[in-house]
Amino acid sequence: MTARRSPVAMVWPGVGGRHRATAVDPPAPAPGEALVEVELATICGSDLHTVSGRRPGPAPGVLGHETVGRVVRLGDGPVPRDVRGRDVVVGDRVAVGIYAACGECRRCRRGLPQKCERLFKYGHAPLAEAGPLSGGYASHVLVRAGTPLAVVPPDLPAALAAPLGCATATAVAAVSAGGAVSAGGAGVAGLNVTVCGAGLLGLLATAMLAERDAAVTVVDPDPGRRATAKLMGAANAVGPADEPPPADLYIELSGAPAAARSAVARTATGGTIVLAGTVSPGAPLDWEAQDLVRGLLTVRGVHNYAPADLAEAAAWTESAAARLPVEALLGAVHPLDDLDAALAEAARSASIRVGVVPRA
Ligand SMILES: [Zn+2]
Ligand SMILES: [Zn+2]
Repeated sequence: MTARRSPVAMVWPGVGGRHRATAVDPPAPAPGEALVEVELATICGSDLHTVSGRRPGPAPGVLGHETVGRVVRLGDGPVPRDVRGRDVVVGDRVAVGIYAACGECRRCRRGLPQKCERLFKYGHAPLAEAGPLSGGYASHVLVRAGTPLAVVPPDLPAALAAPLGCATATAVAAVSAGGAVSAGGAGVAGLNVTVCGAGLLGLLATAMLAERDAAVTVVDPDPGRRATAKLMGAANAVGPADEPPPADLYIELSGAPAAARSAVARTATGGTIVLAGTVSPGAPLDWEAQDLVRGLLTVRGVHNYAPADLAEAAAWTESAAARLPVEALLGAVHPLDDLDAALAEAARSASIRVGVVPRA
């Protein structure tokens, strides 16, 4: 089976430049690879940072790393296996993970494929090295061997399926990092949890935690997002100047330096702090070591996720989809050709996610 039309990728030239639609010869996937025709790509906040120049980006390159689509072609030989263990077949609807890992290096063998020594990240690679079908802002993505892939059912809303490979799986990783170590691994039921940031990660983490009977307080400056946090199950939603109750689990997903700095002061004795929002320089911490010692605190850093997190993210999303306010999570959806307009809207609007689709 071949792609029905010539693939197109939106090449980003660098900060200040407009995306350029570029036709691409249909690729022949190598063994272990899959060609995926994109159904929907959602715009993650990290792409907005890249486009604005706040974060170094691959220029020229193809951005986008939250993608759901359909497998239209597989390489000969070994086929990709989805994160829940079944072979991928042509026609499968898949959420594409954010990276490909070698599976063989020291970090992969330690169970840290997201930190593979030969890591490849979709939407983060220069065109010259990765080729054009290396990001979600394209009609197709060439999925490499070693990429976590989640096969999802046809009726799962695309607005929930596309973010699986970044926001949802990372939210699972952050929640797991807290749940696995808090209260002796007994979970979060009955605990006070503070979630900083009501972007998509924070909202999804809130829904996961609320389902596990945690009392979640969400901290976010935007009143609209605080209202959405309530829809996702937050017991409480407050502004950054308000003081949340002392947290048994404090999850920082906003990237705001003040939210990371205040983690220790806001965490109860015996609590766990998970920092997952800060991925750029500029947030030095000035915690007192004795506060960690005397407070019996655990601090965990979380960046991206392992394939098992994507598997849990997919299973959770499928089970929760009917209860989630999908319309509050995805705003406008633009044609791929209007990617610059979509990015501009994502940057200025309060939408949790803005989407792009290859066909209008
Ligand atoms: Zn992302
Ligand atoms: Zn590796």
